[in-house]
Amino acid sequence: MPLVFGLQCPICGELGSGRSLSSHYRTVHPDFFIQYQFLNRRFSRISLGIILASLVSIPLLVIGLFQIAILPWGLLLVIWFAYTLFMFQRNLEVEGDRYLDEWTNQGKRSSVGEIATGPTRKGGTPIVCPICRKGPFRLGLGLRYHTRIAHPDYFSWYARWVRDAELTMMLMGVILLFLGVTGILPLNTPIGPVFVGPVLLVVAIFAANRSRKQRGWRRNYLEKN
Ligand SMILES: [Zn+2]
Ligand SMILES: [Zn+2]
Repeated sequence: MPLVFGLQCPICGELGSGRSLSSHYRTVHPDFFIQYQFLNRRFSRISLGIILASLVSIPLLVIGLFQIAILPWGLLLVIWFAYTLFMFQRNLEVEGDRYLDEWTNQGKRSSVGEIATGPTRKGGTPIVCPICRKGPFRLGLGLRYHTRIAHPDYFSWYARWVRDAELTMMLMGVILLFLGVTGILPLNTPIGPVFVGPVLLVVAIFAANRSRKQRGWRRNYLEKN
């Protein structure tokens, strides 16, 4: 498994797989392990609840209302994504940051924010900081830690950008679902794929906004340094 996609302890930076990291947390970071287990258990329970809730569609399928049966499934899927991204993942990141700061404040060594050695490329491009060009960092935690400590304004803007992009995509998903199910948007006719247009436009607007803001932050940084 390439190092870039390997899981990394968010506190001391040790690399491992899911199972070995879990026992690493238990022995090295017992307080974090309690939070980690709590969040994971809640995630499993909520995921199971959503799967059970999706069974409500089965009677609709039995009586042949396929289109209407898709509606609760689509909505439950969006709810699951929203919970995973905005609650589960966010809480895990907040806990990771909190314990990492505690760890380094105690003077203990962490490799999370260190310049990475070994493979750090994503599609051939090394992952460097978009503001100060330091790097390369490991995908995910490394760059996150660097921007959180070195460019806090950019870090909080970027977190908002990600959240807004995800929220917009979910909202568009729900709108498309309703349009598709009600037949307003005839998805299975030649003009159905017309919905791709607005989706691509929104993606392009978000991407353009991000690179414009990143250029601005880069300019500010170069002026001050
Ligand atoms: Zn660790
Ligand atoms: Zn930087």
